[in-house]
Formats: sequence, C-alpha cells, structure tokens
Amino acid sequence: MPFSPLGLSPYVSPALQQALQQAGYAAPTPIQQQAVPLVLKGRDVVALAPTGSGKTAAYVLPALQRFFVSPPRKPRVLAQLVLVPTRELALQVADVFATLGRELPRKPHLVCAVGGVSINPQMMALRGGADIVVATPGRLLDLLAHNALSLRQVQLLVLDEADRLLELGFGAELRQLLAELPVQRQTLLFSATFPADIQALAAAGLRDPQRLEV
Ligand code: AMP
Repeated sequence: MPFSPLGLSPYVSPALQQALQQAGYAAPTPIQQQAVPLVLKGRDVVALAPTGSGKTAAYVLPALQRFFVSPPRKPRVLAQLVLVPTRELALQVADVFATLGRELPRKPHLVCAVGGVSINPQMMALRGGADIVVATPGRLLDLLAHNALSLRQVQLLVLDEADRLLELGFGAELRQLLAELPVQRQTLLFSATFPADIQALAAAGLRDPQRLEV
C-alpha cells in the first residue's frame, strides 16, 4: 500500500511524499499504516511497537502534517513535545523530523533538549521559542526551572520508548512533566513492552486511547 491513503492531505502530501521517496520509504510499515490515520484524527494512541518497526515515522509524519496544515497561530509556540529516554534516541528522532520535513515549504524550528551536554546552547536555541522539542525528561525539567520554555501550548505529546523511560527511572520526572502540560492535548505512547507500570502511565496520561500492536 502506498503512503497516500493514510489521510495525508492532498495539499501537503507531495512535500511529504517526496521526502519519503528520497528516504527510500516506498510503503508504510504496519505501525505507520495503523497509527498515522488515528493520529491525524486526533486520537490518543498506545502503540506496542519495538525499535525497527518504523515507530518514529509513525508519529513524525502526522506531526509534520499537523504542523504544516494547521500551524500554530504564532510561530515558535511549542506545540509538539517528544519525550525520549536517551540523548542518542533524541538525536535519531530529530534526524527523522529533518529528513521527512526537508521538502516542506516552512520547516519547524526543532530543538533537542537532552542531558549530558551543556545546557547553555539549548537555552540559546530556545530563545525566541521552538515549534517542536525532543527532550529527555531531566533536562526538560532543568530548562523549565530556568524559564527557558513553557509547556502551556503543547498540543501533541509523544512518549517514545515509554518502557525505557520508566526503566531508566524517569517515572517521577514524567509525572512532574504531565502536571505541567495542558489537559487538552493529544498524547501518543510508544513502547516495546506493556507491563503494569506502563499501563498505569497510559491510564494517567492518555484519554480513551486506541491500542495498537504490531
Ligand atoms: P524505527 O522503528 O522508527 O527506529 O525505524 C527503524 C528503521 O526503519 C529506520 O532506519 C527507518 O529509517 C526505517 N523506516 C521507517 N519507516 C520506513 C518505511 N516506511 N519504509 C522503509 N524504511 C522505513
């Protein structure tokens, strides 16, 4: 099945289609087939999808479509937040945003907010705002404590590799961050496993989620 029937609007799809083609993505993977239309409809989604399933593009594609079709009223008002367990994954996710967004006429300002490196360049990058932030939880809390950004306008929250987030001990940080986020938002949770603590996180952070498994 080609990408076009996934609900990517005819207007924007040429830019995304072109980027998909350049990236060598001929057809959606099963998780992309299932998730993209639901995300575009605004549903919360819990996806049991391991690394290698194409889970990243399953949320990056609809996120870019959303950014392009209904951009925030003001640019650089943080509307999309992706939380990941590690700096390496954050850089990979940012790379997928850049690759799939490369043909868009207006590109989102994306900032990686990750630990293990100096906070100052990230504070500089956030001056004037960001459209999308890909973050590890601890550094995001540090940046919030520095008033370097606000989560008040976030419309789309992605928890990627949620099981790893909890394994690495980010549970308390996630609860703090969820409390800072608007209640009215769309939330997507991707995880390779679905133990009780992930189920509890999904129950606390998502609204009537559609559950997907690949
Ligand atoms: P992920 O599960 O997101 O880590 O993706 C695993 C790998 O699959 C990455 O190298 C992606 O570039 C690649 N990939 C994702 N979606 C597709 C697709 N539709 N067609 C071909 N490769 C893909």
